[in-house]
Amino acid sequence: MNSYLRPLINEFKILEKGIKVWDAILSAQRILHAYILVVGGDQPAREKLMGMMGQNSNSHCCYCLIKGVHNKHTYCPFRTPEDHDQVGVDEPVEPFNFHPQALPLQTDTQH
Ligand SMILES: [Zn+2]
Repeated sequence: MNSYLRPLINEFKILEKGIKVWDAILSAQRILHAYILVVGGDQPAREKLMGMMGQNSNSHCCYCLIKGVHNKHTYCPFRTPEDHDQVGVDEPVEPFNFHPQALPLQTDTQH
């Protein structure tokens, strides 16, 4: 994806510094600046753009600090799985119980 977006990023870097354009209303040249303000996409697309590990990783959420639990695949329960101590869970899990409306959120420095 990075090689696909590189030409676009390079062009926006040039536009960020400013380019001369003709202003027909003022009949004069002026400097035009353009910036990327918002990038939209679904969660997998945003993860790729941000260089994140993705939804199948242990720390898959870009908003909170909840860790994924791996049992054949990674999922994100709010409570300790009842079968976490049984065969099939790859790693031991510290007991946890998160309320969905009070999740431990990431700060800007934790990203
Ligand atoms: Zn989350």
